[in-house]
Amino acid sequence: ESGKDSQDKKKNHIKALLVAATDCEPQYLIRLLQTKLRIGLAEQTLLAALGQAAVYTEEHSTPPPHIQSPLDEAAKIVKQVYSVLPVYDKIVPALLSDGVWNLPKTCSFTPGVPVGPMLAKPTKGVSEIVAKFQDMEFTCEYKYDGERAQIHYLENGSVEIYSRNSERNTGKFPDVVAVISRLKRPSASSFILDCELVAYDREKKKILPFQILSTRARKNVVMSDIKVNVCIYAFDMLYLNDQPLIQKELKVRREHLYSSFEEEPGFFQFATAITSNDLEEIQKFLDAAVDASCEGLIIKTMNKDATYEPSRRSHNWLKLKKDYMESIGDSLDLVPIGAFHGRGKRTGVYGAFLLACYNINNEEFQSICKIGTGFSEQVLEERSASLRTQVIPKPKSYYRFGDTIKPDVWFEPKEVWEVKAADLTISPVHRAAIGEVDPDKGISLRFPRLVRVRDDKSPEQASSSEQVAEMYNAQKHNHQNNQDDNDYDD
Ligand code: ATP
Repeated sequence: ESGKDSQDKKKNHIKALLVAATDCEPQYLIRLLQTKLRIGLAEQTLLAALGQAAVYTEEHSTPPPHIQSPLDEAAKIVKQVYSVLPVYDKIVPALLSDGVWNLPKTCSFTPGVPVGPMLAKPTKGVSEIVAKFQDMEFTCEYKYDGERAQIHYLENGSVEIYSRNSERNTGKFPDVVAVISRLKRPSASSFILDCELVAYDREKKKILPFQILSTRARKNVVMSDIKVNVCIYAFDMLYLNDQPLIQKELKVRREHLYSSFEEEPGFFQFATAITSNDLEEIQKFLDAAVDASCEGLIIKTMNKDATYEPSRRSHNWLKLKKDYMESIGDSLDLVPIGAFHGRGKRTGVYGAFLLACYNINNEEFQSICKIGTGFSEQVLEERSASLRTQVIPKPKSYYRFGDTIKPDVWFEPKEVWEVKAADLTISPVHRAAIGEVDPDKGISLRFPRLVRVRDDKSPEQASSSEQVAEMYNAQKHNHQNNQDDNDYDD
């Protein structure tokens, strides 16, 4: 509803809903309207419900004959379409007019609307990669440590930049907008480019660390004020001249990428890549990446199973970071849900925090560890000040933690912290990934330390319990392998 009398019209709709509601339904409606519906009904549930509702409506609801379980299939279709076109204003009208079975045709990828980025799975070593991608052609690319960007160039010459989180970031990077328009070849009239924006010293011709990039202003940046330059490292192309490319193999997407831009060192470069399945060569390439101030490698299939999978952590992209090899693998992104008051030197700030991962299926935050190290005094003060504004009187109903954990304060789920740890263990008090590796116990982190705050992730994008379980299993597997190696040595 909009325009004149829209308030009254909205009120009447709400009244009608409440009158029609029975049993516990009014409670859900009210919480939904107050946007306090954090009781396990988040986006994934909503998408599934939309698909199911479309099956229950009479029109267009007859599924094609090959479909066995229409409700599940419809939910899957809506989720899949939403991952390439996350706009309810387009999906709902299309569902109403042509039904769910036609949705992939009526709603597809559109330039100007960001799609969720394809993500990579962690691996621990070169031999694991060679084993996983046996008999397949794959490429290894430098893994740059900057900010993910999806750059949309529309037919009319306008440019938009979206973050990993699909937030509009164009105002932060006017320099990138200018470079893209300057270095695209005339043949490319519209495109979507997937890339990493990395801080760069053009005099010394050197990549700078992420920490330098994070000092750039976030909004309404004026070209003449820019002190930290960035270089665009391009690695994928999702759309070119009215043609979606996400269903094409990486080999083809990359050809389009290479033929659509001019490289200019320090401004726009293609991600450095090699194609090899020689263990030693990849190992050397990894060392070269680290020497060039990169975090490691991303390894991608080229032909087979090599389409672009929006919003998915795919088996077909593997990340290999140099420091995985010594610790548990990847770092984790966790949400502070509670804290303990500091004592002694830390009086006045929080002394330790309770962190949680996110369970996507149950839509709950599960405690994983207490953290009190990795903070400089300044960072501790900043985090304490920021989280003090998020204190809530009691834990949310969707927080899971052991009875013995009693933080002094609880927080709204708000921040995401990147954390490294020595290893993962089964825990009687924490609840991360409970039921996935042990029926009654969760997983916890040993010796966690804060690496940085992740402004580009929302709490629901924190590491999932599934990922935590996978890491635990990988570690177990690795220990066993080491054990086997030792046995062999003996
Ligand atoms: P994820 O994005 O997988 O959830 P994350 O945000 O913690 O994890 P990393 O573990 O550092 O990030 O690794 C993935 C990120 O690496 C990508 O999202 C992208 O921003 C960046 N990246 C750098 N170089 C490349 C490349 N050549 N190909 C793909 N991604 C790259």
